[in-house]
Amino acid sequence: MCGIIGYVGTDRGDDALEVLLDGLSQLEYRGYDSAGVALADGGIDVHKREGELAALEAALPRERFDGDSIGIGHTRWSTHGPPSDANAHPHTDATERVAVVHNGIIENYQSLRDDLAAAGITFQSDTDTEVVPHLIGRSLDEGLDHEAAFRAAIDRLEGSYAIAAVFDGTETVYAARHESPLVLGVADDGHFLASDVPAFIEYTDQVIYLADGEFARLTPDDLVITDANGQVTDPSVETIAWDPEDAGKSGYDHYMRKEINEQPTALRECFRGRLDELTGRVELPELGDLEPRRPVTFVACGTSYHAAMFGTRLLQDRGVPAQAFLASEFDADRVPIDAESLVVGVTQSGETADTMRAIREANSVGATTVAVTNVVGSSAARETDDVLYIRAGPEISVAATKTFASQQAALTMLAAALSDQRSRALVRELRAVPDQIQSVLDASRAREIAETYHGAEAYFFIGRGYHYPVALEGALKMKEITYTHAEGFAAGELKHGPLALVSEETPVFAVVTGDGKLAEKTIGNVKEVEARGTPVVAVTDGQSDVERYADHVLEVPATSAVASSIVANVQLQLVAYWTAHELGRSIDKPRNLAKSVTVE
Ligand code: GLU
Repeated sequence: MCGIIGYVGTDRGDDALEVLLDGLSQLEYRGYDSAGVALADGGIDVHKREGELAALEAALPRERFDGDSIGIGHTRWSTHGPPSDANAHPHTDATERVAVVHNGIIENYQSLRDDLAAAGITFQSDTDTEVVPHLIGRSLDEGLDHEAAFRAAIDRLEGSYAIAAVFDGTETVYAARHESPLVLGVADDGHFLASDVPAFIEYTDQVIYLADGEFARLTPDDLVITDANGQVTDPSVETIAWDPEDAGKSGYDHYMRKEINEQPTALRECFRGRLDELTGRVELPELGDLEPRRPVTFVACGTSYHAAMFGTRLLQDRGVPAQAFLASEFDADRVPIDAESLVVGVTQSGETADTMRAIREANSVGATTVAVTNVVGSSAARETDDVLYIRAGPEISVAATKTFASQQAALTMLAAALSDQRSRALVRELRAVPDQIQSVLDASRAREIAETYHGAEAYFFIGRGYHYPVALEGALKMKEITYTHAEGFAAGELKHGPLALVSEETPVFAVVTGDGKLAEKTIGNVKEVEARGTPVVAVTDGQSDVERYADHVLEVPATSAVASSIVANVQLQLVAYWTAHELGRSIDKPRNLAKSVTVE
């Protein structure tokens, strides 16, 4: 997600404002919608703006900062409250004794905010973050020193955070982290902190990775790291050998690979605070008291449409009638929706023109509308009655990967909430998905498959039930980034036409998990293909005997059909990625395609 930078320099150190702006520009690759800095030499000076860094730079009265040696900066990727000047970080307490930047999500912010509001605090923003400076301010009022006040505030937070704070009148930056990245930089003439090394690699290659639960105190000459109990730790300083040019992709060749690998983290964020293991309930307070409506109509395009198909089946399986429309084919005059209907627009960017048109038509007949999107404050978020954010973090590669997994996860939770079902088994299965994806990422043999079949004429993907949309998505990924013909089919459809296309030159990928009726039938379809000499790659959990009929196996852990669809898709993403790699394609920016499709 967003970017954090902090710097405290010695007398011979660099100008803090330049360090912060350089650092933020190096972090732009992470995606952001607003930016800000706080300088802290003699009073706290905060400047922040919605939009690109250039907007912030233009708003800075530069001459005032010359010679400042301490400050923090932030590029925000909104999760709570739309992008705006007021919601941009840093945030301060009421009397500007402390300024704070934060990356992540504070799960218990609402109850903290209620307590603080009851104590007379007025909030300046909609963010979860703003509770932090106010908590610190309250502790200062009670007489705690800076460090104790900072620690006391952090102790009250639940959720994910990398946080940095500066106080009026001290040359110290305080930092803490839990499940969000934070790395420290050690130089002769000062100390740095950032979300990622590129932010300060121009100044030093000596870094310390802060561990979860640790605190750091940075002064011009000293850097002290303590654990949760306040015990000083003895950190190891590593030397970074990266070329700054590559650093934006954190060492990966492509954003797509990085984003595929980010899926465990993205899904943990998506589930954060929404799954109750004790009751088996899914908690989506952002949907208010949305009553289950019948039927639920999804509108979406491309990858999001595949997620919508997945969501449709989830609802149908829970007794809620549902249908999915390609947004470009949706026409409120023809489709029976009215003021009693619930229309769910699924769109990664929240700006997809076809989906927006469909949402607007649904609004015009008085339907209740919900957006399932990744972008806070996007058109879809603004123009619907309720929003379910998928919280995947910015996705730079044009081909959607982690946002599809997060859409699947979000729609699974939406279906549970709309059918008002409790299921401890479902909650447990969903919680296990991030680790299961990690195990696939660690051991996948997709690269070998790509090396074997990258010259193929075409690729076909088959699956049934929850695996049908996964087959479609596997084919779409392959088309998008390899420029090779690929198609996904409901496995049972193969014999109704497409079988004429299969040959020794057209590998077929079959997603088969479990050992039930659907697996058995898909294996029947695999046999039809195998009998024609076509290479078969089975994505399977080993529960059935599909391996006997497949030339290759890509393994996934055994779990339910719903959860295994999310995990199996990762194998197909990797096959597409490595095939495109073999073919030397422009993976992150495939020809003719755009990330956010804002024309109908
Ligand atoms: N949750 C915070 C916000 O919405 C921080 C988001 C981020 O990581 O940039 O402001």
